This record gives sequence, C-alpha cells and structure tokens, in this order.
Amino acid sequence: MPIKNFKKTLNGLFISFLAFACQSNSPEKKAIPNSTRDTKYDCAHCAMPANEYPKWNVKLTTADQKLKWFCSPRCMLMEVKHPQGKLKNFSLIQLVEYYETRRIKAEDAFFVIGSKVLGPMGNDFVPVKDSASAVEFKNDHEGKQIIRFKDIDTRLIEAVLK
Ligand SMILES: [Zn+2]
Repeated sequence: MPIKNFKKTLNGLFISFLAFACQSNSPEKKAIPNSTRDTKYDCAHCAMPANEYPKWNVKLTTADQKLKWFCSPRCMLMEVKHPQGKLKNFSLIQLVEYYETRRIKAEDAFFVIGSKVLGPMGNDFVPVKDSASAVEFKNDHEGKQIIRFKDIDTRLIEAVLK
C-alpha cells in the first residue's frame, strides 16, 4: 500500500473513531431524562406521569399504606368512585387546592364541575377548600355545580368526563 493511501486510511479510521466516540456519548445523554423518570408517579388510572402536574395531581394512600398517584381528580374518581375502579380501599386521598396549591383531603374539598378550567385530562372536578371559594370559582369560571366528595357518583363522573 502506498504511504499516501495508508495515511488516508489512518485518518479515516481516526475520524470513524471520533464519530463512534460521539455516538456512544449521545445515547447516554438522552438516557438521563429517562433514567430520572420515576414510574412510581405514573397515574394509577391513565399512566401519565402525575409529578408533571403538580397543580392537579392526587395522592392516595391505600388501606394497606401503599402510595398511589393520579394525574388529576377525575382519574382518581374513576378508580375510587366508578364501578370499574380498582382502588376502593383507601385510607387517605389528598388533592391540590386550586387557589392555594396545597394538599387538602378529599372529604374536606368542595368540587366545582362544568367550569371552563381544564385539568390535564380535560373537564375535571376542581377542588377548593371551602364553600366561599367554591362559589367564587363557580362564578369566575362558569362552573355549573358544587359537590362534596361523598355525593360524587357514577352518573356525575360520566357526565363530567363526556
Ligand atoms: Zn390520569
């Protein structure tokens, strides 16, 4: 092999080595967001990552003290209140209060339905802390009805999710 061609081959090898080195770096970079994605936050109803919706997500503690996440109140209600749901045995449900973005218990919340405010999944049950906030929210956002957790039933869930 003439010396010139040999050098070319060497250069070629070196370039392909660099290209290989770069390629082997890039999948690693891409893998970082994937590896930090914690599947424990996946919505127990629709599998969306609930931690990406900090203003809407719901934390449910099962009767045997396991933590389940939901992306939104409506996904939680589908598992807890709907006949097709699989999480009927819970000890605590914590929602995010709309105005103060702090956790409140499902039993303490006033839910406004039929408003123009959409959650991660669309129409939702928007939780607020008391009846005055519920009236304010209903008036400000064209809400249709205020309802307590104990009164939410299949018919209402299906009407809201339409
Ligand atoms: Zn969901």
